[in-house]
Amino acid sequence: MDENTVSYSPRYLAPYDDESISHYLGRWMRQPTVSISNPLSLSQKIGLGTTLWRWQRFYFNPPPTDEELEKIGTLMELEVERLQLMFPPEGETINSEPIRLCAACYAQIPYHRMQWQFQSTAGCEHHRFRLLSRCRSCGEQFPIPSQWGKGKCKQCGMLFKSMVKWQKGY
Ligand SMILES: [Zn+2]
Ligand SMILES: [Zn+2]
Repeated sequence: MDENTVSYSPRYLAPYDDESISHYLGRWMRQPTVSISNPLSLSQKIGLGTTLWRWQRFYFNPPPTDEELEKIGTLMELEVERLQLMFPPEGETINSEPIRLCAACYAQIPYHRMQWQFQSTAGCEHHRFRLLSRCRSCGEQFPIPSQWGKGKCKQCGMLFKSMVKWQKGY
């Protein structure tokens, strides 16, 4: 029997709709069955150089190759087509900084949405709010989404979900 044919291993983690690759990578690595804290060492271990490190920072130049996606897909037990949904669509310009947040969305389901980093995104279409690009309590920028395990500002501890009070309409 080939052990590799098991379809859902303890490594499998269901992605959310429109979850960004950075946020998914962080969640995936923090799983107790995986427990990896350094994306760079994981990346190198599977022969991908600095790729995972780049992806968690929204550096998509050069864009993901089929070979990279297949390697990650095998590791994370995801179809390449599903994985591709965590990346920006072709032609979409990405701002890797600042990391942006709709606190109202985050309060509903806590994850970073890929479209928050699109240059073309002016605000949240669900809530008609402008996005936050830093903690309004202390002014600190948001960490990269792969580090959003606790869902709060690294500096002052303000919960992301409670930042909705500072969001302005658009
Ligand atoms: Zn929203
Ligand atoms: Zn803060």
